[in-house]
Amino acid sequence: MPYKDPAIARAKARERSARPEIKAHQKELRDRPEAKERRKAYEKTEQFKKIRRKSEHDRNQRLKLFLMIHYGKGKAECVHCGFSDMDGLTLDHINNDGAAHRRQILKGKHGCKDFYRWVKRNNYPSGLQTLCSNCQSIKKARPNEFMPKQTAQLVLA
Ligand SMILES: [Zn+2]
Repeated sequence: MPYKDPAIARAKARERSARPEIKAHQKELRDRPEAKERRKAYEKTEQFKKIRRKSEHDRNQRLKLFLMIHYGKGKAECVHCGFSDMDGLTLDHINNDGAAHRRQILKGKHGCKDFYRWVKRNNYPSGLQTLCSNCQSIKKARPNEFMPKQTAQLVLA
């Protein structure tokens, strides 16, 4: 029976395919050798690779946005200067132990996305903050300006 409202039609379709006997039937269809072959061939096409690249990219961007907000005090902004272009934002190790930390946890993987996923898997540990690439370079050159207020006071006293 067709539904006029596409949202309802989609919900009904989801409901249908969640039923165990339907699920089993769908698996049976998927497991047919000719279906497997067709899928394999499709997965080799540029079209499929393009779609997969895009969805992976979108997933990474969503995770990055979430992390930038989480470590940016509720905003996807550099905590030091307020810069907010996502492509210029990074996760900074507050105690400057990022290189060693990455070596320890990533074991040969280098990408930001691997690090972001590690952060998610490990339940968003503390010790990180959202900084823009600019501020990160300046922090490297003049770390004193980037100390948390309390520590800075201790150093002054
Ligand atoms: Zn900044």
